[in-house]
Amino acid sequence: TRGKLIAGNWKMNGGLAVNEALLQALRAGLQEQAPGCGVAVAVPAPYLAQVQALTSGTSIALAAQDVSQHDVGAYTGEVSAAMLRDFGARYVLVGHSERRQYHGESDAAVAEKARKALAAGITPIVCVGESLAERESGQTMDVVRRQLAAVVQANGHCISEIVVAYEPVWAIGTGRTASPAQAQEVHAVLRAQLAAATPQAQRMLLLYGGSMNAANAAELLAQPDIDGGLVGGAALKAQDFLQIIAAAT
Ligand code: 13P
Repeated sequence: TRGKLIAGNWKMNGGLAVNEALLQALRAGLQEQAPGCGVAVAVPAPYLAQVQALTSGTSIALAAQDVSQHDVGAYTGEVSAAMLRDFGARYVLVGHSERRQYHGESDAAVAEKARKALAAGITPIVCVGESLAERESGQTMDVVRRQLAAVVQANGHCISEIVVAYEPVWAIGTGRTASPAQAQEVHAVLRAQLAAATPQAQRMLLLYGGSMNAANAAELLAQPDIDGGLVGGAALKAQDFLQIIAAAT
């Protein structure tokens, strides 16, 4: 069995005091009831050191939200994989739809970011997902397969080391979750695509993201190819995030 991973994506939220309160509540909750799944929080880069300190020795893994496709040098504002590793990041999100949409990240750039993360020993959580227009015009599978193919092509046999997150853009921050059947259908396609690239595909984790919350998590996580969640808004509230973690066990 694959086990499960629940990752919170804080996006551009938080602050020193808020982060500390949230992590203390999470630590207390997870101490009371040890998680039966992996747990991670993806935090804004300036807070990596703070969150590293507050999660060290706990069951909460540290994740970053983006990584540069370059190693070092004149790339103002960028953060390299080696820098993330310096602060103990175990995961990094790559190709989140908000990066693709607002920062023009191409499939090729996302693939290169995944490659840099892997080279630094950080697990990339590669995000794929279709827009509402793409879904309504029947292009969902084409879009996610194209997005994943770029990453597969750039990473060769290392592809078995990535985590994939299916996040339909129309479900992000909208309160409109993909149905368990809709999500499972895409996850099955993605796993088949991975199986064509690596004999390890059955061991790989495929997360669902998009308005996952305490009420809908169990049903989504019960699907055969949904191995966890990438949680936005609900990860900012300790009780909600803890309930989702509990639903994953
Ligand atoms: P929400 O859970 O707020 O819809 O965000 C999902 C997401 O984008 C996680 O990366």
